[in-house]
Amino acid sequence: MSRETRKVVVIPCSGIGKVYGALARETVYELMERVRPGVVVTTCLPLLMIDDPEALQLITGNPVITIDGCPSGCAHKNVETHGIKVALTCQAINFYKAHKELKPGGIAELDENGRKLAAVAADELAHTVDELAQGEVEK
Ligand code: SF4
Repeated sequence: MSRETRKVVVIPCSGIGKVYGALARETVYELMERVRPGVVVTTCLPLLMIDDPEALQLITGNPVITIDGCPSGCAHKNVETHGIKVALTCQAINFYKAHKELKPGGIAELDENGRKLAAVAADELAHTVDELAQGEVEK
């Protein structure tokens, strides 16, 4: 038994036309591009809906975090439909509730507050990502 860094899959909902859907997506981009590049990966949610083999392999072989834009929970429900237990489920609005000074605006593209909030949310998720990435694996 030894420790090695695993990929962590973070999946935002599709969230079209909703500011918190845009916030979910931007938070994932922050994680992938700035906070934990090379560790955090993602996939397109609709690929799970059509049972794409590569997308299914990704969520089967790695820990998964989902970020949803509203209580409908499309991202985490889609993952769990495939029998995968999500390691952490987030609702994007809770990032705002914890940082009320950063009320996000924008839909297609987040405004400055929204981009700042996504960066803060990604920083706060980093610890969980690290724990999941350092899980013990058989070698
Ligand atoms: S969780 Fe809400 S915002 Fe996200 S795709 Fe589903 S209905 Fe849209």
